[in-house]
Amino acid sequence: MEIECITVGEFQVNTYLIRDTASGQAAIIDTGETAELAAYLASLQPQPDIRMILLTHGHLDHAGALTGLQQQFDVPTYLPRLEQPLFATLPQQGDWFGAPHMNRPCGRIDHYVDDGDIIQLGETTLHFISTPGHTPGQGCYYDDKDIFVGDTLFAGSVGRSDLPLGDPALMQQSLHKLMQLPGHLRVHSGHGPVTTLDRERETNPFLTFLRN
Ligand SMILES: [Zn+2]
Repeated sequence: MEIECITVGEFQVNTYLIRDTASGQAAIIDTGETAELAAYLASLQPQPDIRMILLTHGHLDHAGALTGLQQQFDVPTYLPRLEQPLFATLPQQGDWFGAPHMNRPCGRIDHYVDDGDIIQLGETTLHFISTPGHTPGQGCYYDDKDIFVGDTLFAGSVGRSDLPLGDPALMQQSLHKLMQLPGHLRVHSGHGPVTTLDRERETNPFLTFLRN
């Protein structure tokens, strides 16, 4: 799998263009909240063979540009099933941050994913693991080398669980669950640099509860 990280928008969110090397089939992971990602993708030559949009969670900086992106790429879109209540608030989320200009329409969801679901992209098998806490349905997509964690885990930090519909106790459980996955997995977060599960297990100050 080839991975390109495109950082966009006021929140500097990491969106990803991933490509199955064997087939060339591609997917977008998260959208940002502006037209930046759509413009970047339109500029690529040759055009990527985009087959799907995968959302890690429903915060506006990750899912706000979905409607615009779907006008350009009319492909199936996946959202964690448990994320529906938060996703439905996209038209008001800008208000939460004192930024009503960032309120966005919801866009179309074609498939709801549940813990353990598998999504096939060419010859790449993506697994979905549900890791609620930052949001009610936040989840991660991974293969045998890479994991896309949204705002569950960052290099040296973890996602906030004090925002509306966040849950600190669930967050602790989800971090524990996430750390059961193979440590060599490269972690591609919603914000900030790449890391690995092993590195975070050993050095992340917010994961000391896992080391005691
Ligand atoms: Zn978030």
